[in-house]
Amino acid sequence: MHPPRSSTRMEREARTVALMIRRFCRDCHQGRDSLCNDCQALLAYAHRRLRHCPFQEHKTTCGNCPRHCYAPGQRRKIQEVMRYAGPRMLLSHPLLAIAHLIDGLRKPRPKR
Ligand SMILES: [Zn+2]
Repeated sequence: MHPPRSSTRMEREARTVALMIRRFCRDCHQGRDSLCNDCQALLAYAHRRLRHCPFQEHKTTCGNCPRHCYAPGQRRKIQEVMRYAGPRMLLSHPLLAIAHLIDGLRKPRPKR
Protein backbone atom coordinates (compact mmCIF):
# COMPACT_ATOMS: atom_id res chain seq x y z
CA MET A 1 0.00 0.00 0.00
CA HIS A 2 1.44 3.35 -0.94
CA PRO A 3 0.22 6.80 0.08
CA PRO A 4 -1.00 9.19 -2.60
CA ARG A 5 1.91 10.81 -4.37
CA SER A 6 2.45 14.20 -2.86
CA SER A 7 0.34 16.11 -5.31
CA THR A 8 -1.86 18.92 -4.10
CA ARG A 9 -4.47 17.48 -6.42
CA MET A 10 -4.80 14.24 -4.50
CA GLU A 11 -4.48 15.92 -1.13
CA ARG A 12 -7.28 18.27 -2.05
CA GLU A 13 -9.45 15.38 -3.11
CA ALA A 14 -8.81 13.57 0.18
CA ARG A 15 -9.54 16.73 2.16
CA THR A 16 -12.70 17.47 0.22
CA VAL A 17 -14.22 14.05 0.74
CA ALA A 18 -13.33 14.15 4.45
CA LEU A 19 -15.01 17.53 4.85
CA MET A 20 -18.12 16.37 3.04
CA ILE A 21 -18.49 13.21 5.09
CA ARG A 22 -17.95 15.16 8.32
CA ARG A 23 -20.60 17.69 7.35
CA PHE A 24 -23.06 14.99 6.35
CA CYS A 25 -22.53 12.95 9.51
CA ARG A 26 -22.81 15.95 11.79
CA ASP A 27 -26.05 17.14 10.23
CA CYS A 28 -27.71 13.83 9.43
CA HIS A 29 -26.37 11.27 11.88
CA GLN A 30 -25.31 12.35 15.30
CA GLY A 31 -24.82 16.08 15.52
CA ARG A 32 -21.24 15.84 16.69
CA ASP A 33 -17.91 16.58 15.05
CA SER A 34 -16.64 13.03 15.42
CA LEU A 35 -17.78 10.58 12.77
CA CYS A 36 -20.13 7.69 13.49
CA ASN A 37 -18.76 4.21 12.79
CA ASP A 38 -20.45 4.03 9.41
CA CYS A 39 -19.01 7.32 8.22
CA GLN A 40 -15.59 6.50 9.62
CA ALA A 41 -15.61 3.33 7.55
CA LEU A 42 -16.85 5.22 4.51
CA LEU A 43 -14.07 7.82 4.82
CA ALA A 44 -11.41 5.13 5.21
CA TYR A 45 -12.85 3.44 2.15
CA ALA A 46 -12.87 6.65 0.11
CA HIS A 47 -9.25 7.40 1.00
CA ARG A 48 -8.29 3.84 0.13
CA ARG A 49 -9.96 4.19 -3.28
CA LEU A 50 -8.04 7.43 -3.85
CA ARG A 51 -4.74 5.76 -3.04
CA HIS A 52 -5.49 3.06 -5.58
CA CYS A 53 -6.89 5.38 -8.23
CA PRO A 54 -5.06 4.68 -11.51
CA PHE A 55 -5.45 8.29 -12.63
CA GLN A 56 -3.89 9.94 -9.56
CA GLU A 57 -3.12 13.61 -10.27
CA HIS A 58 -4.80 13.31 -13.66
CA LYS A 59 -8.03 12.13 -12.15
CA THR A 60 -11.30 13.92 -12.60
CA THR A 61 -13.61 14.04 -9.58
CA CYS A 62 -15.03 10.70 -8.52
CA GLY A 63 -18.53 11.74 -9.55
CA ASN A 64 -17.37 12.31 -13.13
CA CYS A 65 -15.06 9.33 -13.41
CA PRO A 66 -15.78 6.77 -16.13
CA ARG A 67 -14.43 4.01 -13.93
CA HIS A 68 -16.72 3.01 -11.11
CA CYS A 69 -14.32 1.67 -8.55
CA TYR A 70 -16.65 1.85 -5.54
CA ALA A 71 -18.52 -1.22 -4.36
CA PRO A 72 -22.28 -0.69 -4.84
CA GLY A 73 -23.07 -0.22 -1.13
CA GLN A 74 -20.31 2.34 -0.58
CA ARG A 75 -21.20 4.03 -3.83
CA ARG A 76 -24.76 4.57 -2.67
CA LYS A 77 -23.53 6.05 0.61
CA ILE A 78 -21.02 8.40 -0.96
CA GLN A 79 -23.61 9.63 -3.45
CA GLU A 80 -25.93 10.45 -0.58
CA VAL A 81 -23.11 12.35 1.12
CA MET A 82 -22.24 14.29 -2.06
CA ARG A 83 -25.83 15.18 -2.78
CA TYR A 84 -26.19 16.58 0.70
CA ALA A 85 -22.79 18.15 1.30
CA GLY A 86 -21.88 19.24 -2.23
CA PRO A 87 -24.10 22.32 -2.44
CA ARG A 88 -23.39 23.22 1.20
CA MET A 89 -19.64 23.18 0.54
CA LEU A 90 -20.10 26.21 -1.69
CA LEU A 91 -21.07 28.22 1.37
CA SER A 92 -18.75 26.72 3.97
CA HIS A 93 -15.64 26.16 1.80
CA PRO A 94 -16.15 28.12 -1.43
CA LEU A 95 -12.57 27.86 -2.69
CA LEU A 96 -12.40 24.13 -2.17
CA ALA A 97 -15.83 23.68 -3.76
CA ILE A 98 -14.86 25.70 -6.82
CA ALA A 99 -11.55 23.85 -7.13
CA HIS A 100 -13.55 20.63 -6.99
CA LEU A 101 -15.83 21.81 -9.81
CA ILE A 102 -12.81 22.72 -11.94
CA ASP A 103 -11.13 19.39 -11.16
CA GLY A 104 -14.30 17.73 -12.42
CA LEU A 105 -13.76 19.21 -15.87
CA ARG A 106 -10.54 17.29 -16.39
CA LYS A 107 -10.36 14.42 -18.78
CA PRO A 108 -8.97 11.53 -16.80
CA ARG A 109 -5.91 9.83 -18.21
CA PRO A 110 -3.98 7.06 -16.55
CA LYS A 111 -0.66 8.01 -15.09
CA ARG A 112 2.36 6.67 -16.85
ZN1 LIG B 1 -22.41 9.26 10.14
